[in-house]
Amino acid sequence: MKLLEDKILECGELREGGILKVDSFLNHQIDISLMQEIGKELASLFAGKGINKILTIEASGIGIACIAAQYFDNAPVVFAKKTESLNLSGDVYSTDIHSYTKNKDYTARIDKKYLTKGDKVLIIDDFLANGEAAMGLMRLVSMAGAETAGVGICIEKAFQKGGDMIRSKGTELHSLAIVDVKDDGTISFLQK
Ligand code: 5GP
Repeated sequence: MKLLEDKILECGELREGGILKVDSFLNHQIDISLMQEIGKELASLFAGKGINKILTIEASGIGIACIAAQYFDNAPVVFAKKTESLNLSGDVYSTDIHSYTKNKDYTARIDKKYLTKGDKVLIIDDFLANGEAAMGLMRLVSMAGAETAGVGICIEKAFQKGGDMIRSKGTELHSLAIVDVKDDGTISFLQK
């Protein structure tokens, strides 16, 4: 998606460890017009899939998913929680996920009420690196007897294994920008 690629080139900062910092429009301050275009693009890529629910994980996925949901007939957005809370009933689906940016494991939980058999779920997240978060969300979907209709990602990093892993499972994955790093350390984009 050209608009997103241009924004990454304009504002993204490549950091040590292959971390792309996009705080000015995605992870801290959020560019709403851009998110609306991202939502429209995802809706067109996943049209006709019968998606009735959007699933993401706190925190950065929530804003993107909520704006995108408006282009999926206001499908409800469910986000997996990363911390235990008295607000959460004990009746949850849970799975352990390794965090790439924090380099530690956490447990993702969803109240069983909000993910059920028959749901056709689109998983949305800001980044795809090693695929731990997306695969974890897919595990939660299958625990519920629901179906992952697809995975929609804003920024995939081609130099990490998540994208190839998810595509090789036969899951429909669309990443709106696939970032690679050239030998001189600058950003390039791939199409897959
Ligand atoms: P994965 O689970 O695919 O290894 O990593 C994806 C998750 O880690 C995303 O939910 C995202 O929050 C975070 N992440 C991974 N790589 C980056 C990155 O380069 N920049 C930012 N801002 N977040 C990242």
